[in-house]
Amino acid sequence: MSQISTPCYICEEELLEKNLKILEYVQQQSGAKIILALKGFAMWSTFDLAAKYLKGCTASGLYEAKLAREEFCKYNKNAEVHTYSPAYKEEEIEEIAKISDHIVFNSPNQLQKYICKVKEINPNIHVSLRVNPEVSSSPVDIYNPCGLYSRLGTTLQNFDEKVLKYIDGLNFHALCEQNADALEEVLAAFEEKFAKYFTNLKYINFGGGHHITKKDYDVEKLIWIIKEFRNKYNVDVYLEPGEAVGWETGYLESTVLDVFENGMNIAILDTSAEAHMPDTLAMPYRAEVRGAGVANEKKYTYRLGGNTCLAGDIMGDYSFDAPLHVGDTIIFEDQIHYTFVKNTTFNGVKLPSLAIKRKNGEIEIIKEFGYEDYKNRLS
Ligand SMILES: *Cc1c(COP(=O)(O)O)cnc(C)c1O
Repeated sequence: MSQISTPCYICEEELLEKNLKILEYVQQQSGAKIILALKGFAMWSTFDLAAKYLKGCTASGLYEAKLAREEFCKYNKNAEVHTYSPAYKEEEIEEIAKISDHIVFNSPNQLQKYICKVKEINPNIHVSLRVNPEVSSSPVDIYNPCGLYSRLGTTLQNFDEKVLKYIDGLNFHALCEQNADALEEVLAAFEEKFAKYFTNLKYINFGGGHHITKKDYDVEKLIWIIKEFRNKYNVDVYLEPGEAVGWETGYLESTVLDVFENGMNIAILDTSAEAHMPDTLAMPYRAEVRGAGVANEKKYTYRLGGNTCLAGDIMGDYSFDAPLHVGDTIIFEDQIHYTFVKNTTFNGVKLPSLAIKRKNGEIEIIKEFGYEDYKNRLS
């Protein structure tokens, strides 16, 4: 039995470093630079480790860029901060320009609106345009940046050659949890549409969604693709994964609060699918529970639900070898990426604590949340 108070996300340092070492291998073999997408994983208490291996961060806007500057760059003086937003606001652009090494615009409109101001504030900043290759095999629409009517990135049709004199690179982001063969497909479309603009470019950013640290990912193929591309066009290549950094690096621990029957066995936990495991509902997907099977695989099946009033706040149906009791621990596997970065205090439920399991097995609680965190977000 564990002693930590639940709910709690526990990131395992050893597993995180294992992922970082795979990414380091890709960098060494391919010559690409890999930066961390804070959108998916922003546990900054681990950045001392991440900054040893990765070349910087990619930020979705001012706050993530500030976090990268404050908490990542202090461990790696050469770390780069790349900032991309679908659209920038007038009141934020100056600070973004000041603290970013790379700025990525989503449209020629935005680039032309801000380029002079950005260059005036930071003459050394690298400027890029995100383009939309209009090819993606993303498994679900909510995570498909190249779907119909996409607002993310500039299509070839909307490309304005007037921006060419300002840009140092191009970005695309078209993948979601995908293997190297999906990258190959996207690259073919990207090159076919945009290679004519590469002439004076210094780099191409291949975005995120590369599931590099997953067991069946074809790392050697990725390395080969990047090397070929770099040789062919004589440009630097960036990758900016989020998920692949946090993939299978820890778990969410929760406690059973009540057990009863209503046509089937139901257990209510002190965590929430809606507030703490949002992609189980949005993607949707089924999180693995340690020691449990699918419904009816083992002797005792329960519907696991969250502690909010949302009827659909359900993690799924799971079976166990023994009946569940109040006070039992339930562990959801692989809950470090895209979880606490998306948490809400919906229903006033307590935010799970954040902890790191050190290499010696010790669990260090880094942060606990309480009523003030709920209150401070409201007025
Ligand atoms: C979300 C996102 C990423 C990271 O994607 P992962 O699937 O977490 O690897 C990288 N770049 C951009 C532009 C993104 O929107």
